[in-house]
Amino acid sequence: MADMSQSKNKMPVQNAEQRKQNYNEVALGYTEDQAIAEAKRCLNCKNKPCVKGCPVKIYIPEFIKEVAEGNFEKAYEIVSKQSSLPAVCGRVCPQENQCEKHCVRAIKGESVAIGRLERFVADYHMKHSQNKPDKTVLPKSKYKVAIVGSGPAGLACAGELLRLGYEVTIYEALHVAGGVLVYGIPEFRLPKEIVRKEIQSLIDMGAKLYTDTVIGKTLTIDELFCDYGFDAVFIGSGAGLPKFMGIQGENLGGVYSANEFLTRINLMQAYKKDSTTPIHKPKKAVVVGGGNVAMDAARCAVRNGASVSIVYRRTMQELPARKEEVEHALEEGIEFKVLLEPLEIFGDQNGNVKAILCQKMKLSEPDESGRRKPVPIEGETQTIPCDCVIMSIGTSPNPLIKSTTNGLEVQKWGGIITDEQGKTSLARVYAGGDAVTGAATVILAMGAGKTAAQAIDKDLKALS
Ligand code: FAD
Ligand code: SF4
Repeated sequence: MADMSQSKNKMPVQNAEQRKQNYNEVALGYTEDQAIAEAKRCLNCKNKPCVKGCPVKIYIPEFIKEVAEGNFEKAYEIVSKQSSLPAVCGRVCPQENQCEKHCVRAIKGESVAIGRLERFVADYHMKHSQNKPDKTVLPKSKYKVAIVGSGPAGLACAGELLRLGYEVTIYEALHVAGGVLVYGIPEFRLPKEIVRKEIQSLIDMGAKLYTDTVIGKTLTIDELFCDYGFDAVFIGSGAGLPKFMGIQGENLGGVYSANEFLTRINLMQAYKKDSTTPIHKPKKAVVVGGGNVAMDAARCAVRNGASVSIVYRRTMQELPARKEEVEHALEEGIEFKVLLEPLEIFGDQNGNVKAILCQKMKLSEPDESGRRKPVPIEGETQTIPCDCVIMSIGTSPNPLIKSTTNGLEVQKWGGIITDEQGKTSLARVYAGGDAVTGAATVILAMGAGKTAAQAIDKDLKALS
């Protein structure tokens, strides 16, 4: 008999005042008893509406049933059939817009905490399993595949190809593998040790990894085929090029793109006393934007000692960030200044930021995205004094690979054009993740990597 309580079992978290002083993980994860109690809220629905909302179609009721019965390893096996990074997805997927949105328990209360349970089984497996990672691969293929980029798209593509028996080589531009999982999402949301273990498991399965290798510069796509003998290439190079607003003052000292600010902190660990990478420690920071990236930048600025405001042009209801991140940001004392759009950043006599001037906005009719459009209230502005501005208004794919690969077709905004299977305009060149869709989510990037791997397998088998 299911437990009919209306609310999710609470996730233990680090206290807000304490966590503002450190970079340790905020959400601490369910205990075994809490996981079993939460799993017992699941009704094991016959038509499985939650699965329809999951981009990789995890067998949700089946794994939750195993958790409810205390069979945690069995639950992990079920999850890991569909998801190659469950410890990551359980932490960062926007479940409230996916599986949990469709959960029938959400009709009269809160949904089952599917994401928290996914995280629980993945963590349980990591902690208790003595087994080496899954090495059940199909017989070795004579073909070899190059993967460009080691974010979720590249890692998922590599994992699937390894399981299918291919020789896989991953090329990563940065000195550490993991993409946004290591350079963007902060340690307090996703401990880097988890990402490192996931990558190590691919290496244990036979993947070769070359870091500090920029495809399109160190080596071109053509060279991967002609000089290195690869039979197919998957491009999962993400969308790491930051956008700016094009307003006066964006060149002042103390103005960052969120990408630069987060890379300094997460990848280069600039917050540590012995780090060789410098970081400006602002007293009053303004973060422009309302997505996950903006929340991460704001919460890092808090941990660096700043008082922080988020400037967003719509209202709290339209914030695109995950609900949990917004709640955590509020608990950490971040102020949300909504219905404001930056007009100009003012500098002092030394060329450093001293304030940001914003236009007051109101909401009108919904725009093409279905969200109500913000329009200016004529003549009404607000000036916010600050010594740092972090622009977090989106990113686009880097044009480097396109500019060095003849015949690779891209959209006007830079996204690589592919069909549904991830095939690009070039034979045996595939792409997926943010490089194709623009900035999206971890699970969608993983799904695209896996789909492309299956297309690569089909196409290479057809050559034999
Ligand atoms: P990436 O993760 O960007 O990886 C691409 C990799 O390719 C990088 O390592 C890059 O260095 C490498 N690369 C680029 N060019 C080259 C080249 N020429 N040669 C070799 N290597 C190259 N999504 C969620 O679902 N939940 C969240 O909570 C969330 N929070 C986020 C927070 C931040 C700060 C950011 C920036 C994004 C967040 N996202 C979140 C989005 C999510 O992380 C991305 O959608 C996802 O990482 C995309 O995966 P990817 O593999 O396509 O690209
Ligand atoms: Fe369980 Fe909710 Fe899925 Fe029904 S919809 S099976 S209650 S998780």
